[in-house]
Amino acid sequence: MFDALAEKIQSAIGKIAKKGRIDEETLNKGLREIKLALLEADVNYKVVSDFIKDIKEKALGAEVTKGVTAVQQLVKIVNDELVKALGGEAEKLQLKSKPSVILLIGLQGSGKTTTAAKLANYLKKQGKKVLLTSVDIYRPAAMLQLEKLGKQIDIPVYLNQNEKDAAKIAKEALEKAKEEQYDVLIVDTAGRLHIDDEMLEEARKIKEEVKPDEILFVSDAMTGQEAVNIAKAFDENVGMTGIVLTKLDSDARGGVALSVKGVTGKPIKFAGVGEKIEDFEPFYPDRVASRILG
Ligand code: GDP
Repeated sequence: MFDALAEKIQSAIGKIAKKGRIDEETLNKGLREIKLALLEADVNYKVVSDFIKDIKEKALGAEVTKGVTAVQQLVKIVNDELVKALGGEAEKLQLKSKPSVILLIGLQGSGKTTTAAKLANYLKKQGKKVLLTSVDIYRPAAMLQLEKLGKQIDIPVYLNQNEKDAAKIAKEALEKAKEEQYDVLIVDTAGRLHIDDEMLEEARKIKEEVKPDEILFVSDAMTGQEAVNIAKAFDENVGMTGIVLTKLDSDARGGVALSVKGVTGKPIKFAGVGEKIEDFEPFYPDRVASRILG
């Protein structure tokens, strides 16, 4: 992930470094290369424009600090802008109620069910008592997939395959979580291949019923800018508190990671980095930026 982008940004900075001092012409040339690298990585155009503008302003306005070369200063500015684009400070889950409810929303195939199990396992390792539920009333196979994953990680899964009202199943699961003193309930919802009104309406109803502490939008990094547009639509129509970016291991470009905060204002809270349950980690913008800058 980010390999091509990292190589190109590092090469652009390397060329600037060779010049010794940074005048406006050298900077402009370097920034043009960085801009192209970002666009090739499929970063949102407006995010790229703001990124380049900010670097330019800061680099030209930077006071020369003693003991730090102009290039070191530029690297620091680029790093800060990358961290900003990736979301700034790492954002933790806000689980305040008991039980806390985490609602997972997103399109079919984005990795929702896998993420439900990964997240449950992650929280269990932190000592939390976790209950899972699937309210996908359209695909019995999705419910069974979650049940199977639950068995693998030894986390109970509440199902009601006879019920045709998703919000009702979510409510039943919440009642069980309350009665049996669970710390967290994770609700895996039905996705569709494309956004449609029925799916959004159903997600809103479930939200109303269980009043989640967190609504995490599960986004497939490989779908590029389309993922960013879908995130925006879900945020406007359902609302979300954060994003789980899946399949980062298969996404060579990294465009979604760098665009989604700028476009939606919502932070990436976790990254899916493989198919296995353990392939899941909190998202740290500063670590990702360091990886890009080498
Ligand atoms: P859902 O329809 O949104 O519930 O999606 P699933 O959880 O069934 O996942 C769809 C496919 O993506 C499955 O084959 C998963 O194994 C795969 N998948 C999910 N997350 C990741 C990830 O982080 N990395 C990779 N490589 N594959 C993933």
